Amino acid sequence: MKQPNQSLEAHIHALLEDPAQQDNPLREPLVSLWANHQDLARRIDRISRISDAYQSMAKQQEQSLTERLNKQLRQLEKVARISDRYQNMMRDLNEALREASTHDALTGLPNRRLLVDRLKKEAERYARYQRPFTIAMLDVDHFKTINDQYGHELGDSALTEIARVLDAEIREQDLCGRWGGEEFLILLPETQADAAAKVMERVRTAIENLTIRAQTDSVNATISIGIAEYQPGESYSETINQADHALLVAKRGGRNQLSTARAPSGA
Ligand code: GH3
Ligand code: MG
Ligand code: MG
Repeated sequence: MKQPNQSLEAHIHALLEDPAQQDNPLREPLVSLWANHQDLARRIDRISRISDAYQSMAKQQEQSLTERLNKQLRQLEKVARISDRYQNMMRDLNEALREASTHDALTGLPNRRLLVDRLKKEAERYARYQRPFTIAMLDVDHFKTINDQYGHELGDSALTEIARVLDAEIREQDLCGRWGGEEFLILLPETQADAAAKVMERVRTAIENLTIRAQTDSVNATISIGIAEYQPGESYSETINQADHALLVAKRGGRNQLSTARAPSGA
């Protein structure tokens, strides 16, 4: 402990040791006062050491608590970043899965499932608001020959090219999908058979004018088209059957042409 009054203490000590002061009546109370003082000084010293130790311990604890909190905060931030990345990944994955389940892998067009979904909705819309719609069924002519002559790979490229042209030729509101194999289906909402026939004639010509190129070969393809307008009271699959039937008529008629179901002339 710090001794602010060293000289006073030395003086008292000297007086107590002085033989001339042995009979001094103040000596005895001074001895006991001195002993009390020493005891008090020791206790104060002890308390102050304990207090110092406690303060440094508290400081250390405070520091280590801050460090721990900072570390936990950094870990939490890391976990949040990982979780964000994971969520983004899941979102992308879901998007990819949704795309894969509704689109055709080769051409990228809507697949049969998505087409059926839209057809159902159109039939429902007709039931509520009597809005007309027409279906066109398209089939590549003699596609087997293209495959046989130029190989399956060129056949695949041809399908992709045809799909691209179909998608480019239809109107904004129309939906073109791959029905299966070398067959495509086009849904034309808000459209009656005669207007649909005009759109499909343009599509037919565009495919006729398309040249599909492979390394050394180039090949032309044509399509036949069956058109059917939805009739009140029928199911969408009945309309598809009608379009299929019209397609058969177009094939029988010599291919590279379109035919409309239920049209009086079979045009
Ligand atoms: P038609 O004019 O009567 O329609 O004759 P077609 O040869 O087109 O008809 P067919 O049904 O005899 O043959 C269809 C061919 O389409 C057979 C099949 O191997 C081929 N095809 C179906 N899907 C694919 C495909 O994804 N890639 C390729 N390269 N060929 C396919
Ligand atoms: Mg076919
Ligand atoms: Mg065919």
